[in-house]
Amino acid sequence: MSDRLRIALQKKGRLADDSFALLKACGLRFAIRGGGLLARVKNMPIDLLLVRDDDIPSFVSNDAADIGIVGENVLVEEQLTGELDATIAMRLGFSRCRLCLAAPDGGTVKSKTDLSGTRIATTYPGVTRRFLSDSGIDAKLVEMKGAVELAPSIGVAESICDLVSSGATLEANGLSAFETILKSEAVLIRSSRELSAAKTELLDKLLRRIEGVIKSSE
Ligand code: ATP
Ligand code: ZN
Repeated sequence: MSDRLRIALQKKGRLADDSFALLKACGLRFAIRGGGLLARVKNMPIDLLLVRDDDIPSFVSNDAADIGIVGENVLVEEQLTGELDATIAMRLGFSRCRLCLAAPDGGTVKSKTDLSGTRIATTYPGVTRRFLSDSGIDAKLVEMKGAVELAPSIGVAESICDLVSSGATLEANGLSAFETILKSEAVLIRSSRELSAAKTELLDKLLRRIEGVIKSSE
């Protein structure tokens, strides 16, 4: 790979704007426009790889990027379901949310003790399965790609395991959370690969700046 440090970032979505703002606060000058996959940082040897958040752990693991910013929920899911060489280098404190079990108000599932023999819809099968096995619960997972909050009303599952921040989406669908199985925030990830001396120095500088930005905003 080139000697420019490559950072994988979500192109568009709940992580994107805060990720861009953090890097700008660290002094990186760049412009995100249109459909480009790569954005060049003008004042430092850094390139930004703009992708879907789900691909970020794998891209870091497979050397398409040196580091990345992703939700801890996605990192843990990929660690549990794939072969991944990516771990947390720093917690970033934004995009906080919880992965929660939730069920229809007034329904048969009110707590985790009601889950045995039922179906749980989720886009996070790895984390959900780990919770079920740690809790000794025998339930069936129904994997969905999105719109998990609709699963109970469609009749595909009795409960869901989904991300919650304000709870507004759950409420709008007549659902209530009854158990948090993972707390998440944006994290900076890297692989165990050794970087060149120049990249190592640049990454250390960037990490110190990020620390400074986070401290000053506390
Ligand atoms: P992409 O198109 O990149 O795949 P996405 O739709 O999968 O995007 P977003 O909804 O943008 O993802 O969420 C990205 C991350 O933001 C989540 O993985 C999670 O870490 C965090 N997040 C914070 N609050 C929420 C929430 N209420 N619902 C979903 N994700 C949240
Ligand atoms: Zn995604």
